[in-house]
Amino acid sequence: MENVTSDTVAAAERPKTFDAFGRHINYLRVSLTDKCNLRCVYCMPEQVVFRPSDELLTDDELTTILEAASALGFDKFRLTGGEPTIRPGIVDIVARIRALPGTREIAMTTNGIRLRRLAEPLRRAGLDRVNVSIDSLDPARFRRMTRWGNVTDVLDGVYAAEAAGLTPIKLNAVVIRGFNEDDIAPLAALTLQHAWQFRFIEVMPFADVAEFQQATIVTSAEMIERIERELGPLTPENDGHLDGEARIYRLAGAPGAVGFISPVSAPFCASCNRVRLTADGTLRLCLLKDGEIDLKTPLRRGAQADDLAELMRSAILHKPWGHELGAGVIPLNRIMSEIGG
Ligand code: SAM
Ligand code: SF4
Repeated sequence: MENVTSDTVAAAERPKTFDAFGRHINYLRVSLTDKCNLRCVYCMPEQVVFRPSDELLTDDELTTILEAASALGFDKFRLTGGEPTIRPGIVDIVARIRALPGTREIAMTTNGIRLRRLAEPLRRAGLDRVNVSIDSLDPARFRRMTRWGNVTDVLDGVYAAEAAGLTPIKLNAVVIRGFNEDDIAPLAALTLQHAWQFRFIEVMPFADVAEFQQATIVTSAEMIERIERELGPLTPENDGHLDGEARIYRLAGAPGAVGFISPVSAPFCASCNRVRLTADGTLRLCLLKDGEIDLKTPLRRGAQADDLAELMRSAILHKPWGHELGAGVIPLNRIMSEIGG
């Protein structure tokens, strides 16, 4: 018999929101800013123009939308961007999310550069864990991928996050042909020494950057082949089931695990449980489809959390089944840094 605790009773009593396909939507990914302290080649054009600050949600506006999400039963939140750690007030935003009723998990996707300073305060405010993006361990190749980043800053950030208890540590690399295919095996080898999960992501096409992204994609199958050739067999974990959006494997004797996120070659739309809030206050129903609803305008006209919850609930009924990259449908209205991944 199931062991019924006060937590399971509380969870059972929480409201639940479903889309038209019966998927339980409880995970909100929140882009806190479209701005970034790097310029990764697969994410944004070099001459990117960021939005004026007054187009972005204020902390209080963001809080009202998060209260609406919480009232709909959202219990998992991921802070992203742009680079979430450059948003002023980031620590207070985490504390506000932690104070919402029913919050189960708060995670952050970050390039890690500011974690050396922020890991500890973020942990104290209630952040559970981080995913840190690191596309190469080689300083020159890392710099070329990010246009000016320093990989030592990122590694320092990873160690600071681990020391602060923002665990389990997950690391992400997007693999781009001609830039970092040779880094796949060295990055996977980190899992032989650390209890980290290293996830390799297939590059996805967006708007102005789509042509570059489509020309440089490396599939998960090729990544697996490269790792096995250099480091030995990868054994599937979880009976081959997805962990979130990743398929997880392990190298023999490794304390850490290797994951593959394959939105292009093996979409995971059937198990999608998420929607996204952009930094300028729209609810985006699918990462790879342009459909969005504007929450900021009603909010600035006086809508309260209850009104926004109703708007969100009816929008979620229009969440598309899945993306159509295979049929050549590419998201055109935003680049990745505006959505947050
Ligand atoms: N700045 C943070 C970072 O880099 O982790 C958070 C925002 S970033 C947009 C979120 C994730 O999206 C990162 O792991 C990044 O590598 C990934 N990403 C960016 N552009 C992508 C693309 N075109 N295809 C696949 N992943 C992408
Ligand atoms: Fe910035 Fe992250 Fe995009 Fe790189 S992937 S440019 S770190 S938002």
